[in-house]
Amino acid sequence: MNIIEELLSLKIRHHGCEDTWYSCPKHPDGYANKGRGTECDCGADEHNDKVDAVIAELVLLQVKIHREERDSALRAFSDALEELGIEDELMRRSGMCLVGGMVV
Ligand SMILES: [Zn+2]
Repeated sequence: MNIIEELLSLKIRHHGCEDTWYSCPKHPDGYANKGRGTECDCGADEHNDKVDAVIAELVLLQVKIHREERDSALRAFSDALEELGIEDELMRRSGMCLVGGMVV
């Protein structure tokens, strides 16, 4: 299951009615009651904003997990180099250096 696609499928459209007097002002087919303004009054914008916020949090969480996994792998790599006693030679040849166990 692609969680982001599932979340996107939860988004809703603005309320539309055959009698456009009752349609949301943001419905793409328009609305007849101009006295209602131009803002969504059917709840779709509020609902979809919450879906977007959940998706944004999920993406940030995935990025954080990816960074933690990467940092953990780099620390393990650094430890392995240290155990082999070739850390200095490898860093010298590669032009990289270790700062606090991190390759930079
Ligand atoms: Zn609406």
